[in-house]
Amino acid sequence: HGEIDFKEDAKFSQHLKKGEAVSEFAMSKSIAEQRQYLPIYSVRDELLQVIRENQVVVVVGETGSGKTTQLTQYLHEAGYTINGIVGCTQPRRVAAMSVAKRVGEEMETELGDKVGYAIRFEDVTGLNTVIKYMTDGVLLRETLKDADLDKYRVIVMDEAHERSLNTDVLFGILKKVAAQRRDFKLIVTSATLNAQKFSDFFGSAPVFHIPGRTFPVNILHSKTPCEDYVEAAVKQAMTIHITSPPGDILIFMTGQEEIEAACYALAERIDQLTSSTDKAVPKLLILPIYSQLPADLQAKIFQKAEDGARKCIVATNIAETSLTVDGIYHVIDTGYVKMKVYNPKMGMDALQVFPVSRAAADQRSGRAGRTGPGTCYRLYTESSYLREMLPAPVPEIQRANLGNVVLLLKSLKIENLLDFDFMDPPPQDNIVNSMYQLWVLGALNNVGALTDIGWKMVEFPLDPPLAKMLLMGEQLECLDEVLTIVSMLSVPSVFFRPKDRAEESDAAREKFIVPESDHLTLLNVYQQWKSNQYRGDWCNDHFLHVKGLRKAREVRSQLLDIVKTLKVPVTSCDYDWEVVRKAVCSAYFHNGARLKGVGEYVSCRKGMPCHLHPSSGLGYTPEYVVYHELILTTKEYMHCVSAVEPQWLAEFGPIFFSVK
Ligand code: ADP
Ligand code: MG
Repeated sequence: HGEIDFKEDAKFSQHLKKGEAVSEFAMSKSIAEQRQYLPIYSVRDELLQVIRENQVVVVVGETGSGKTTQLTQYLHEAGYTINGIVGCTQPRRVAAMSVAKRVGEEMETELGDKVGYAIRFEDVTGLNTVIKYMTDGVLLRETLKDADLDKYRVIVMDEAHERSLNTDVLFGILKKVAAQRRDFKLIVTSATLNAQKFSDFFGSAPVFHIPGRTFPVNILHSKTPCEDYVEAAVKQAMTIHITSPPGDILIFMTGQEEIEAACYALAERIDQLTSSTDKAVPKLLILPIYSQLPADLQAKIFQKAEDGARKCIVATNIAETSLTVDGIYHVIDTGYVKMKVYNPKMGMDALQVFPVSRAAADQRSGRAGRTGPGTCYRLYTESSYLREMLPAPVPEIQRANLGNVVLLLKSLKIENLLDFDFMDPPPQDNIVNSMYQLWVLGALNNVGALTDIGWKMVEFPLDPPLAKMLLMGEQLECLDEVLTIVSMLSVPSVFFRPKDRAEESDAAREKFIVPESDHLTLLNVYQQWKSNQYRGDWCNDHFLHVKGLRKAREVRSQLLDIVKTLKVPVTSCDYDWEVVRKAVCSAYFHNGARLKGVGEYVSCRKGMPCHLHPSSGLGYTPEYVVYHELILTTKEYMHCVSAVEPQWLAEFGPIFFSVK
């Protein structure tokens, strides 16, 4: 392991004393007092006046200043919800849910009543809802049904600095809405100072600054690069816990598996320590947070720890700017982030871990200085910060697969995407390749217009290949089965594998496995659950997450509704499952791989090596497979794999394949 040995900063200890009184004060206040204590409160009236006088306003303020939770309430209090509602978009679903919950508490209303949220496949709003938090993807889809967004009086585009793909597309669309509707107001918020770009895009909209209130953060870099950052982070957290005065810890990691491993290791160390000493070991409350974590567990990060206990939150970059937890004095930054990137040359998407940008690293360290002066331990060297990290993250639109965006904009009658008003236009390569992929899937015709299939695909809030799979399910007369598979692929993994009962849970899982296809394994799990009256105790007995399955059932019924409105008949193949694999192949032939050597695959189109993911249940190594997605970690892993016949590849993807 790379040894972490941080350089000390002598100047820093002077700062340490000052902040403490403030933080004690901040922790013990009522909700109303907390609201008034937020930096945005001191400028409430000026802010409302600027909004009154301008159609578009850019609001800049440090994370935690109250933009997300307060702005919507100020607008409500100022009467903007008398004729219309206030919408607030978030790039992340966790943030949309969590913030709505908080604002509901502040306004003393049930979630879904005056305050609600909507994320894909989950709408918790009602007739009374006047403040609606939602993902940017949800609002984007709403523009399909109502181009002028008439029900919204104000839209707050939150977290604009994130530059998520959907937010970037919304910029162009909302600019048009603002031009058409004089009564409409748009507020763009950003946590970083380079807001000039937003202002310029909206014709020199005024930029309103919320005064900051932060404490110094002592930043310590690792002296040598660190090989195993999970282990290093755990070690650092333990050291802080044993040696530092009270103050919570926040660790940044890249994803669920790492976070779970770190939480497990931390709990283990605490146990070991407890059993090896007579002295009382201070309590450590270990709290994971990542997007796929069930909502009730997510909410725990905001709870106060019992007296004397220290919180240790282990998070993805969700805690970078989207969510603010008070009381953090120590940040441990692994320096990495997981992102989905599209490689237009290879024509494929992959989930991959990258070093964060310097701007993101600074945001992360800033999280330690909100309640008082804090410390950030960076598990990377100062030289990699200065020389290897990019100054700012690459906007998603520059690196993402644009398949969905192309479909959406085409259906909004934007014929030439290069004409769309993008703040930063995507690389032409990406547009062309995404269009090519849609053409291959049959969604676009030879002149780049939507086909009948393409128009139907737009109706589904799904990635184009999944929508295609549904429509092929109709043709191949197995729509019932395909609906289930698509729903299961749209929820987190339903297999439950506690570390202390790994063998037992693996054995339980084994019983569901369909050797030739992970897709069919998912179908099998769902159908057996259905045969057991969708029972919860049955899930527990079989090491399945009941919440995940219930979610899949809900998604399924929503997709079924769309299928019905399209008047597509729901057919079933009745346990003749070969045709289901064919349907999978018909939508994922571009993700085909061929066996080459023992247990090794290469992608059919580009000959790139790829491997079966350890989670795959494939009982043998078929000659040809298609996969759902590619995950790049130490190797290229194919995630969720099905055996296919080579002639199917030729039948559905004649552009790529032919039978010799
Ligand atoms: P910004 O959007 O400017 O980053 P927020 O409005 O998200 O700021 O946060 C303002 C304050 O509200 C923070 O101090 C944060 O701790 C608190 N807060 C936000 N969400 C919750 C929650 N779910 N539970 C408790 N406190 C919360
Ligand atoms: Mg915010």
